[in-house]
Amino acid sequence: MSAKVWLVGAGPGDPELLTLKAVKALSQADIVMIDDLVNPAVLEHCPGARIVAVGKRGGCRSTPQVFIHRLMLRYARQGKCVVRLKGGDPCIFGRGSEEADWLNAHGIEVELVNGITAGLAGATQCGIPLTLRGVARGVTLVTAHTQDDSGLNWQALAQSGTTLVVYMGVAKLDEIQAGLLAGGMNGDMPVAMIENASLPAQRECRSRLAALQNDAAAFSLKSPAILVIGEVARASAQISMPQLLHA
Ligand code: SAH
Repeated sequence: MSAKVWLVGAGPGDPELLTLKAVKALSQADIVMIDDLVNPAVLEHCPGARIVAVGKRGGCRSTPQVFIHRLMLRYARQGKCVVRLKGGDPCIFGRGSEEADWLNAHGIEVELVNGITAGLAGATQCGIPLTLRGVARGVTLVTAHTQDDSGLNWQALAQSGTTLVVYMGVAKLDEIQAGLLAGGMNGDMPVAMIENASLPAQRECRSRLAALQNDAAAFSLKSPAILVIGEVARASAQISMPQLLHA
């Protein structure tokens, strides 16, 4: 059998939001390389595996991507079953495809396993439907954080008529607010800020675009958090906080 690496999504945090396929991959793993947004509780599915932490939080000390690539390659060539475990979905702001391409170019087979991405989980856990008949006919997932600091087309986003879900936005609230207002979005547009989605520490703050920075400061919003911007963020189904089913 040729060497293979599994690029697996660990979901947003709640270990019960793992897919069955992720659990299966973990249970067969010899090596599990994890990012720092992965809830360590999911490691109960791989008690025998060697765990290698390769976190890369923006702005913090991190493992260089090239080192992660080479490590995966080395373990795979040793014939080990390697699981690369990433927060959320491996291909949503997760470099999953970059890692897959690099491994493929070095003769390693890759299998991608979906995870529930934080933006979808956060909205649903707060009772916000990202699409809603007659209100929002689409969703745009966007990050405010770019490698080259190039700006986003805020006008296009402001006028897209879709719900915006912003990842990695906590340090860029000024830019998001100013960009969308300048792009023509109404200052009264509802915004939900959702921190630690799906975890017991989940917190949410409802605001509106014109008050975004002030409300975030008063709430002391911290990463990891997503923003949901759109009319749907007015909605609030009566749901209970996330709990473990077996708790
Ligand atoms: N691949 C991941 C995203 C990685 S980028 C996914 O699909 O979810 C990291 C960003 O994801 C964070 O800055 C934050 O915006 C978001 N994020 C990840 N986990 C989160 C959580 N539990 N709650 C809120 N936001 C989260």
